Amino acid sequence: PRTSVLTGAASGIGKATKDLLEQRGERVIGVDIHDAEVVVDLSTAEGRAALVQEAGRISGGSIDAVYAVAGLAVPAPATVAVNFFGTVATLEGLRPLLAGSEAPRAVLVSSMAALLPSDGELVALLTDGDESAAMARAEVLARDPATTGQLIYASAKLALSRWVRREAATAAWAGAGIPLNAAAPGIIATPMTAGLIATAEAREQLLHVVPMPLNGIAEPIVVARLLAWLNSEENTHLCGQVIYVDGGSDVVLRGDSV
Ligand code: NAD
Repeated sequence: PRTSVLTGAASGIGKATKDLLEQRGERVIGVDIHDAEVVVDLSTAEGRAALVQEAGRISGGSIDAVYAVAGLAVPAPATVAVNFFGTVATLEGLRPLLAGSEAPRAVLVSSMAALLPSDGELVALLTDGDESAAMARAEVLARDPATTGQLIYASAKLALSRWVRREAATAAWAGAGIPLNAAAPGIIATPMTAGLIATAEAREQLLHVVPMPLNGIAEPIVVARLLAWLNSEENTHLCGQVIYVDGGSDVVLRGDSV
């Protein structure tokens, strides 16, 4: 059976994905800041290093797939630290453990929020990989009541989708036989969005910004099935794709641009 390392395992999309893989008989090393086999804080350098060390120890040095799912949606710099730098550190840090697999795979979770307004300065700093400058910029955005911090989440996810596009075809990933792809969900009913979709009025307001004409707000299993397939042996040729699993938000917002 395949062995995976999956971050964000304690809740929402990560938990649904872990449950699905385990039902299919796969082994999943769950990672989270609480309630997981590997408990680490992916917003810190120490937590990221501990993840690599623990995953290596528990797996015996070889895994088949990485699922970078952990994320935060608070209007604060921590969202940048977890969603961008934590995700990149997870994928780059665990990549050496994929070397022994016959069907290595890696996937991360971006968001349709990458299509919403973002902060160009923050996106540029993330693209440069400059964590301290990016955190400082996020601090400024978090204090600006006009943006209510929403720009931080959208910027981190846009930078993450672009990171996949830049990395996937390189020697490190495609050259090493590792498909690297992303899922970009629309609104999913998880603890992250619970407060935003609690009432019919709130849901209607949110769906105005994030239109989902096909079947509306989704359950986490919907994303879990896509992630599981992207990291399965069946996926041999998807490379650097950002797959929108969003009930049509991308199509409505971007029209026929492909
Ligand atoms: P969730 O809050 O249910 O789960 C996120 C998990 O990440 C939690 O278990 C949390 O503890 C973990 N996490 C947060 N900070 C961490 C840290 N510093 N170190 C380690 N783990 C940490 O949310 P979810 O909706 O399941 O989100 C999963 C992913 O999907 C996130 O990347 C999120 O941005 C993305 N996403 C969610 C939606 C949605 O509508 N729910 C839409 C698009 C993208």
